[in-house]
Amino acid sequence: MTDHQLPANQGWNFEHSYAELPANFHASVMPTRVAAPQLIVFNKDLAAMLGLNPEGISNAEAANMFSGNNLPQGARPLAQAYAGHQFGNFTLLGDGRAILLGEQITPDESKFDIQLKGSGPTPFSRRGDGRAALKPMLREYIISEAMHALGIPTTRSLAVVATGEPVLRDDVLQGAVLTRVAASHIRVGTFEFARAKGRPDDLQALIEYTLIRHFAEGFATENPTLALLEEVIDRQAKLVAQWMHAGFIHGVMNTDNMAISGETIDYGPCAFMDTYHPMTVFSSIDREGRYAYANQPKIALWNLERFAESLLPFLHEEPETAAQLAEQALEGFAEKYNDAWLGGMCSKLGLFNVEENDAALVTDLLGLMHNGKSDYTNTFRALSKFESGLPQEGLFGSADFEAWKTRWLERLEGQHKNKKYVVELMRRSNPSVIARNHRVEAALSAADEGDLSVMEKLLGVLANPFDDSPAHAEYSTPAGADFAGYKTFCGT
Ligand code: AMP
Ligand code: MG
Repeated sequence: MTDHQLPANQGWNFEHSYAELPANFHASVMPTRVAAPQLIVFNKDLAAMLGLNPEGISNAEAANMFSGNNLPQGARPLAQAYAGHQFGNFTLLGDGRAILLGEQITPDESKFDIQLKGSGPTPFSRRGDGRAALKPMLREYIISEAMHALGIPTTRSLAVVATGEPVLRDDVLQGAVLTRVAASHIRVGTFEFARAKGRPDDLQALIEYTLIRHFAEGFATENPTLALLEEVIDRQAKLVAQWMHAGFIHGVMNTDNMAISGETIDYGPCAFMDTYHPMTVFSSIDREGRYAYANQPKIALWNLERFAESLLPFLHEEPETAAQLAEQALEGFAEKYNDAWLGGMCSKLGLFNVEENDAALVTDLLGLMHNGKSDYTNTFRALSKFESGLPQEGLFGSADFEAWKTRWLERLEGQHKNKKYVVELMRRSNPSVIARNHRVEAALSAADEGDLSVMEKLLGVLANPFDDSPAHAEYSTPAGADFAGYKTFCGT
């Protein structure tokens, strides 16, 4: 399995708290060796944040370590069990191609899961091969890092290693392993798994573990399980609001892809929207638009209902009271989401607070953008330059927009805020670059052919999405007409 343990000076500092959960929740499994690991990308900034010593890790060592050939010191690999509602249908799942190495304790005492994805079969693989292909793993790397730079809670990517082995899908693809870093990999589906197994002690252990890991303050309340439910509802409401602000479409919001920590997880068929249309869907498997852009808040609530159901036995001993408590908590989602969404949209328009007519101001603009087939990101970024005058073309040239602009400028005036601060707020709230699909695809295709320069340049630009650098100009152009109908595929 492993050749030898790597030197201690790399900074690994693992804990294995998940392994202490009851045996049903995990299975020990070693990564399967790969033939010829080659380091494709390594996130040195993230490594440093984790307390690793990137300079102490050579490329060859990184390739061996992040492919699973030669485990980091102190790793104790396991696959996690979970269940999930996939497109509404309940299934038992588990890490079929991912292996947790342990929880890295950082210099500031934070704890992060370090997980290899694509590192070979596990007891939960079902018919899958446990492997992943290079392009989807690089896609996860690029988009998760872009999300992080946008300030959206997300799992992150530490490395991608090509395995030197083929993976068989519709075509023969290059294999790869991604190292994912997450606050934890506890999912709504982990709770559904515990409930479905019908072992109350296991469920209770999971609730306590999750509270300790993500919300220890909850123990100080009268009903810690209810506090956990409310906290998860709150985090998801805020997270999905941030997706909506950025025009991000997750694409496969199954309950197994919703992290309790409040981080975005599982970058499969996700994408950023170019032209504003509320029903935008990119995923090739989402034929009915269940996970379309505008449906995301509704689906988040649906998933949270599954979470609440799993918690019922510990919300209250009386089933009726438990159901009432769950319902009340879930009713809070709408307000939490609306507040987060509207507050963020107001920031995008340079408004420091939310007033009575602001919801109409925002939705009227979105209506104009919808009719005008406007680019979502570029329209808001252009508005942030209102001081120097807006271009008189497209949406901005229309009479309807002119009427809207008058309302908006009046509202801005009424704030009595220095224009400098308004512009600053708008610049911080409206990225000039997002991971546009055609740019991501170009980077992935070049990388697949062995040219990493396109991806490296893209990663550099996406790391500072709010800058106005000349280097950004070419990355802010929407895709041409030949890219219409673009589809994404599940990360296989
Ligand atoms: P996802 O759609 O990526 O969230 O994956 C759903 C489930 O399928 C998870 O349990 C994965 O571990 C599993 N899975 C996806 N691809 C593979 C594969 N190539 N081999 C084994 N399991 C897989
Ligand atoms: Mg998943």
